[in-house]
Amino acid sequence: MTPEPPPGPDEFQIIARLLRPLAGSPEALGLVDDAAAIPARPGFDLIISKDAMVAGVHFLEADPLDLVARKLLRTNLSDLAAKGAEPYGYFLAIAWPAGTGWADCERLAAGLAQDQAQFGLTLLGGDTVSTPGPLTLSVTILGWTAAGAMVRRSAARPADRVLVSGTIGDGWLGLKSARGELTGVVEPGAAEWLAGRYRLPDPRLELREALRALAGGAADVSDGLIADAGHIAAASGVRLRLELERLPVSEPASQWLARQPDRAQALAALATGGDDYEVVLTCALAHVEALIAEGETAGVALTEIGEAVDGEGVAALYRGRELELDRTGWRHG
Ligand code: ADP
Ligand code: MG
Repeated sequence: MTPEPPPGPDEFQIIARLLRPLAGSPEALGLVDDAAAIPARPGFDLIISKDAMVAGVHFLEADPLDLVARKLLRTNLSDLAAKGAEPYGYFLAIAWPAGTGWADCERLAAGLAQDQAQFGLTLLGGDTVSTPGPLTLSVTILGWTAAGAMVRRSAARPADRVLVSGTIGDGWLGLKSARGELTGVVEPGAAEWLAGRYRLPDPRLELREALRALAGGAADVSDGLIADAGHIAAASGVRLRLELERLPVSEPASQWLARQPDRAQALAALATGGDDYEVVLTCALAHVEALIAEGETAGVALTEIGEAVDGEGVAALYRGRELELDRTGWRHG
C-alpha cells in the first residue's frame, strides 16, 4: 500500500501567511471578506483580462515556481500592455496538486511579490483549491485607461502599416532550448538566453502611452505573430500582408536561423511559434516614424513588417512570394 502523502498547507494558512502580505491595498480588505470593493473611477475604464497556465502545458513541471508566478503575471501584463492600459491589480486562482509543500507555496508567493513590486500591481483576491490534476494557476488582471482609450484589435484600416515590438521567435526557440533541443545548434550562451525569454517574458508596458496616442489596432503576441495578426485582421475587416524578411530576430535566434536549410520556412516557424509576449500593431503611415521614435525613447524596438490592405486574413510573404502556411499559429492543447 502506498502511504498517503503528507497533507500540504491548508487553504486558510496559504491565504493568511502567504497571500495577505501581497494584498496591501485597502480595496482587497485584507483578504478577510468574500470580495474586494473597488471604487469606480469616473472618467476611466477598467481594462480586465485573464490568462491561465497549466503545469506541463504552459510551463515545464520542473520550472521553479517563483519564475512560474512571474511568467503568470507577465503574460497577463502583456495583455494590458497591448491595450495601452495602466496596471492596477489582480485576482489569483490556484489549484494545488495534493501534497504540495510549503516551500513550493512560498516560492510562488516570492515570485508574485517580486513582480508586483516591479510592475506596480497589488493582489485583490482569488480562490485557493486543491486538484487531483497538475498545478493550475489563473490570473484576472485589472488595469485602467481613460474612458474609451483602450487600444482595440478592431481599429486597423487599409493602408495602415504593421509594426511589431522587440524580437519574434525567441519564446518558441526558448521552449526548444529549455527542452535541450538547441544543444549544439546555437552557442551555449545563446541557448540559455533563449530559454530565459521563454521562462520570463518582458511585457511591453513601456509602449502603452505611445500605443494610446498613435496606434490603430493592436494585439498581444502570445499565440504566434501570424495568428495574433490574424486576430487584428478579423476584428478590423482588413488583410495584413507581412514581409517575413523584415521580421526582427534576436542575435541568438539568428544563430538558429543561419543553420536552417530553408530560410523562408524557418522565418515562418518563428512567426507562427508562440510565447513572444510582444505587441503587434498597426498605425497610419504618418505615425510610423513617431511611433518608432517613442519606442526608442521607451527602450523598446519597433519594426515595420508589413501593411494592411482590403481583404481578409494574413499573408506571409517572403521576397514578394506568398507562403503557404500549414498552421497559422501555436494552438495550446
Ligand atoms: P470562498 O469561500 O468564497 O471561496 P475563500 O474563503 O476562498 O472564499 O476566500 C477568502 C478570501 O481570501 C477572499 O477575500 C478571497 O479573495 C481570498 N483568497 C482566496 N484565495 C486567494 C488567492 N489564491 N489569491 C488571493 N486571494 C485569495
Ligand atoms: Mg475559496
